[in-house]
Amino acid sequence: MVERDAVVVGAGFAGLYMLHKLRGLGLTCLVLEAGSGVGGTWFWNRYPGARCDVESFSYSYSFSEEIEQEWNWSHRYAMQPEILAYANFVADRLDLRRDISFGTRVTAAQYDEHQQHWLVDTGGEGSFRARFLIMATGCLSVPKAPDLPGLAHFRGDVLHTADWPREGYDFAGKHVGLIGTGSSGVQAIPIIARQAGHLTVFQRTPNFSIPAWNARLPESQRRQMKKDYRTLRTRARNSYAGDFADEYYLSILEMTPEEREKAFEERWREGGFNYQYAFRDLMDNSAANELAADFVRRKIRAIVRDEATAEKLCPLDHPIGTKRLCVDSEYYETYNLPNVALVDIKSDPITGFSVDALETRSTRYPLDTLVLATGFDAMTGALTAIDIRGRNRISLKDSWRDGAGAYLGLAVTGFPNMFVITGPGSPSVLANVILAIEQHVEWLGELLQYAMVHGISEIEAYAAAQESWMEDVRDSADRTLYPQANSWYVGANVPGKPRVFMPYVNGFQVYEAACREVASAGYRGFRLARATEVAA
Ligand code: FAD
Ligand code: NAP
Repeated sequence: MVERDAVVVGAGFAGLYMLHKLRGLGLTCLVLEAGSGVGGTWFWNRYPGARCDVESFSYSYSFSEEIEQEWNWSHRYAMQPEILAYANFVADRLDLRRDISFGTRVTAAQYDEHQQHWLVDTGGEGSFRARFLIMATGCLSVPKAPDLPGLAHFRGDVLHTADWPREGYDFAGKHVGLIGTGSSGVQAIPIIARQAGHLTVFQRTPNFSIPAWNARLPESQRRQMKKDYRTLRTRARNSYAGDFADEYYLSILEMTPEEREKAFEERWREGGFNYQYAFRDLMDNSAANELAADFVRRKIRAIVRDEATAEKLCPLDHPIGTKRLCVDSEYYETYNLPNVALVDIKSDPITGFSVDALETRSTRYPLDTLVLATGFDAMTGALTAIDIRGRNRISLKDSWRDGAGAYLGLAVTGFPNMFVITGPGSPSVLANVILAIEQHVEWLGELLQYAMVHGISEIEAYAAAQESWMEDVRDSADRTLYPQANSWYVGANVPGKPRVFMPYVNGFQVYEAACREVASAGYRGFRLARATEVAA
């Protein structure tokens, strides 16, 4: 049995920084990672076109000025290989690998309340004991394979974007089918279309996508960004989305129709999330939202030449922004290519597969390859996949049966000394996730230091604190348009998952202030017990 002060599960951006932080506190730590390398999301999602949708200068660690200055981002939005290289660079620069056990999947964890430590099992790769268990398992790390009728009959290649072959895949000359038009599909489609003989996109629901206008960063801009880093990072810390861009400076309903059209056009030209966050009434006023949505639909109709295809691509079933916006490079333009077809599988559902074809109610589509861009069991999937047992052997899965909850999105009642990085109830996926990770890691670092100084051996969220926090998470979401969409934010993409809005919508800056306030009130809402008190 290997023993450490802390076991961290996952070696993505969260696990890497957590390890570095714990070492700095003088705690011994081991990171257990299922994959064979660091990088998490960027290790697994190697599909063509994968890249960040938050600009790279912002979507990067801010905790080390040396790393900021030494690393050079090549593009406004870096591609997956570059982000993976960055994760590896950080791991080497901070000498992290010696405390990471790769190829080690955690299958179970059990809290021993008498000894106040966690026993972590990996089903054959060893057992571990630690006072603290830190789940850095990621919000989007469990790929969801769709339940497609008769897929087992298909003898062609089936690839999931989130479990892409490391050696890549040659689409040349192939007849390819792709299911899923969220961010992953929207990024992959333009590249696959240019490589494949023919691409058929099987779309269930269209999404809103805004151009990235991705481009190489000139050296002068890189130098300037590096010079301005401290100001930019401070701005991000004080923002809703944890990003550098200006936010909420325009009201859609207060503008004249001409001003509005000009503002939409300018935000479209800026690209990416600027389109969502520039407008302060976009996410809580249906009329304002509809105007912004309509502008994007008009853009789609202007770009896509075939009228019927353009109409199929226009989202009508959810307010813009209530599902994560896609950020694309020539997504809509791709449907003008002669070798690309769009099939609406809501009106013509998939009925089955034969060895070499996908069949809908009306048509048979011969395929060599099927790409699944069908998303994730988000926010909770990686945690409920592990048999986590807390006090009195209660299981996390049972505790979350009616919906996931965690005090501050960080700690779950009944699971002492276990912490979740970017857990349900925190801004996580509604913010720049690397900044959300940093804030959690730093806050936890302070909590663990406080525990060491005060001789505290057990930390647990009170049930009342967790309930009132999650009530606020829900009520805040209900004041916005977010819950109207059947999104993965509410678990709608996983059959049987309780429908609960999981991320904290009030903004990164409001959340950080709330966490600071809890800490300065002596970690209000947490039961902090000294070893003697626990034993008694
Ligand atoms: P992850 O990177 O998911 O790492 C979790 C790690 O835990 C994985 O390596 C996994 O193998 C490991 N793990 C899980 N369960 C176990 C287990 N039981 N045992 C052992 N190991 C386990 N966010 C943004 O803010 N901006 C973006 O531009 C952006 N782009 C994205 C693009 C894609 C394709 C995807 C899927 C997500 C994107 N995200 C983005 C969200 C992204 O997940 C986060 O930004 C960030 O990378 C998460 O880091 P993490 O360390 O929390 O989790
Ligand atoms: P997603 O947004 O959940 O999209 C999944 C797609 O698959 C949807 O179009 C969905 O249709 C479809 N689908 C799922 N099951 C299906 C089925 N049984 N039959 C037909 N269609 C099915 O997943 P994702 O695209 O992987 O993105 C998830 C999140 O990861 C993003 O929202 C984002 O946060 C992050 N991400 C970011 C980037 C980036 O740009 N940096 C790239 C990829 C991912 P329905 O809508 O009808 O369910």
